[in-house]
Amino acid sequence: MANIIDGKTVAQKFKNKLKDEVDFLNGHGVKPGLAVVLVGDNPASLIYVKAKTKACEEIGINSFQYTLHKNITQKELLRQISELNNDTRVHGILVQLPLPDHLDEELTLEAISPEKDADGFHPVNIGRLVVGKPLFQPCTPLGIMKLLEDTGIDLSGKEAVVVGRSNIVGKPIALMLLQKNATVTICHSMTLNLREKIEKADVVIAAIGKPNMIKGEWIKQGAVVIDVGINRLDNGRLVGDVEFEEASKRASFIT
Ligand code: NAP
Repeated sequence: MANIIDGKTVAQKFKNKLKDEVDFLNGHGVKPGLAVVLVGDNPASLIYVKAKTKACEEIGINSFQYTLHKNITQKELLRQISELNNDTRVHGILVQLPLPDHLDEELTLEAISPEKDADGFHPVNIGRLVVGKPLFQPCTPLGIMKLLEDTGIDLSGKEAVVVGRSNIVGKPIALMLLQKNATVTICHSMTLNLREKIEKADVVIAAIGKPNMIKGEWIKQGAVVIDVGINRLDNGRLVGDVEFEEASKRASFIT
């Protein structure tokens, strides 16, 4: 039976470490500040923003929330970002996605100063990740790396299979695994013989968004499985992309 990777415990350890770093900065007269920009009232976004504000409070970071009307123009949004870029109380800026349809996501993210780009989505920060000199890194893949680190496994030389190639999860996690010397295969909807790829994997990262798509019997004995997928079934249950029951009989570690 696999060991369950407990994300909440790993997150708490990470928060404790951050709190020490924040205390150190406070001791040197710097109070870190994070600005979160929310456009409109998307219910999921409201929950995420609330969680971020709470995490800031826990570790002693100043958080500034800017809730903008859903009909705000692109020009007004860019003006707000420019103000935050120049605000010395603000060290990190997050624009909560998704934005309403009339706003251009790419233009908006590119307006954030790369030095304050807390989500790591600015092309400069993505480019830094590609050349192996990361500054800010996207949070979901970075969280996956923290989970892998916590298992204690050495990724060097391991066969890692990433299923999904989105800019927020699949592509950046593939780069981070490569940086740790794993041999990385990226799969997507056009990949042939997905099963064969998974069967060879020492590490499986599933970021698809399709319930139980990866069958438990495909998982190699002793593999590490990180299931990023969040899928709600018709009966209201939340499941991942990997068949948990069967996979957990084979994996050494699983989320
Ligand atoms: P996304 O942008 O929709 O990307 C999904 C990826 O899965 C695409 O690259 C797609 O391939 C691939 N895919 C779709 N069907 C496939 C198939 N049959 N075989 C192989 N690959 C297939 O999703 P995302 O934003 O990366 O998110 C993925 C999942 O993670 C979602 O469930 C999301 O809710 C969840 N998520 C979780 C967190 C977290 O913190 N836990 C954070 C972000 C996202 P193509 O590129 O060819 O279309």
